[in-house]
Amino acid sequence: MAKQSNNLMDKLVALCRRRGFIFQSSEIYGGINGFWDYGPLGVELKRNVKEAWWADNVRMRDDIVGLDCSIIMHPKVWEASGHLGGFSDPMVDCKETNKRYRADQMFLISVGEGEDTLHFSYVESDEDSLKAAFKRAGKHARRCSATNPSDDPATHLPFGDMAGGTGLASVVGPDTTTPGTLTEPREFNLMFQSYAGAIQDESSKVYLRPETAQGIFANFGNVIDSSRMRPPFGIAQIGKSFRNEVNPRNYTFRSREFEQMEIEFFCREEDSDKWYTYWRDRRYKWYIDHGLTSERLHLREHDAKELAHYATGCADIEYAFPFGISALEGIANRGNYDLTQHTNASGKDLSFFDDQTRERYLPHVIEPSGGVDRATLAFLCEAYTEDEAPDDKGNMQTRTLLKLHPRLAPYKVAIFPLMKKDGHPEAADKIFKECKRAGLAAFYDEKGAIGRRYRRQDEIGTPFCITVDAQTVTDQTVTIRDRDTLAQDRISADKVTAYINDRMRVE
Ligand code: ATP
Repeated sequence: MAKQSNNLMDKLVALCRRRGFIFQSSEIYGGINGFWDYGPLGVELKRNVKEAWWADNVRMRDDIVGLDCSIIMHPKVWEASGHLGGFSDPMVDCKETNKRYRADQMFLISVGEGEDTLHFSYVESDEDSLKAAFKRAGKHARRCSATNPSDDPATHLPFGDMAGGTGLASVVGPDTTTPGTLTEPREFNLMFQSYAGAIQDESSKVYLRPETAQGIFANFGNVIDSSRMRPPFGIAQIGKSFRNEVNPRNYTFRSREFEQMEIEFFCREEDSDKWYTYWRDRRYKWYIDHGLTSERLHLREHDAKELAHYATGCADIEYAFPFGISALEGIANRGNYDLTQHTNASGKDLSFFDDQTRERYLPHVIEPSGGVDRATLAFLCEAYTEDEAPDDKGNMQTRTLLKLHPRLAPYKVAIFPLMKKDGHPEAADKIFKECKRAGLAAFYDEKGAIGRRYRRQDEIGTPFCITVDAQTVTDQTVTIRDRDTLAQDRISADKVTAYINDRMRVE
């Protein structure tokens, strides 16, 4: 199972690079850890994810408005939000390799008993890395009275739970086999720093935002004053965020620069449970509607001890990626913590006066906070499929396809003239231009055997391929082929855009 999963990830990463979805940032200089570039197809896919989110959460509703805040804000924003003091992860350093790891994402395998116990740490959560770590531990185990560690899952414990008791001098770092190499965990602030202006001192220090949410809270008063919005209502924002993650990993899942799509939905305290349930369920359904239909998508309600001190409810929408189960989005009932913090820190009253009830109150907030890159990666993982399909001669061949929802697919349609003569290219070009005019991302291809042209589109997730042939020239009909079922319909050329628009719709 684990092997298959890693295999899927390897294949997906290779496809994404080969076909221009995702590249390593600064690849020609050897790359930079935690940063990724989206290529010509990736940028379309990611843009479609954001546009679907924006359309469904802002344009289609009359109780949400948008915002686009600056990435660098007054440092006091981050003091008030708690990010300057508390936005940190515990990290440990390996003294030999100088590599840094998040203590809460490491695991220990302890080998042996009593005095002879040796502890080995590993960072990945997948089966293969665990096996590799056990193998390393096995080598050292000869020096102590080891039981076979792989037979005893109880010896595999989260680092945080054990580190205090073990004495870190006996812990072997993940990248070395020499004992006694890890430092004590230290808190590491995840915010990137810079300086605004020519003079670089404490007074000019600024931070790249680690989340888009605080810009919404800081502008709450501006939106209320400049619009007719009244609670219950929300403010939405999509934008880049930056976190100096200790261990960026799992492809684009944990990056140092990423995009978030966040809503802060303001309401009365007594309505907040109702709105929390509403947003939790609505956001979960959104992923299903856009193709995450398998049992790999989960909704996990946090239990009380996982909640931040100000929160009364929190749920994660999780996806079982090939590298493990991880969160795509969190939905939290944050009370009025954020508006209280900014009211106190700025001295500006952010309470809302309801002129109908003549009441003044500080709204409570429900926050659905998702990651664009994580959603995009989940859509790609779910879409990657291998099946058997006939080639031009009718022989079954393995084919690779991305079963992306038509709304998200980079190209909606590819148009192929069957031959490069007899009026086929002209008729195909006319349909191609019509699709573009209708706002559909379309691709024109007249090169090579028709089967190969289909395969190239299947591999990048194009849901529909249109073939223009001799019949098109006489009766203005075309064949339209479905990527997933391979079914071919003959439809009138002037119905193409309506047909595709209909199939892109999400109810
Ligand atoms: P994690 O526990 O994985 O670090 P988080 O729960 O702290 O993430 P939030 O602070 O709630 O994440 O951020 C909201 C969303 O932003 C996440 O659900 C995720 O989709 C996205 N996100 C957060 N950190 C990253 C990152 N380093 N890379 C990509 N996306 C991220």
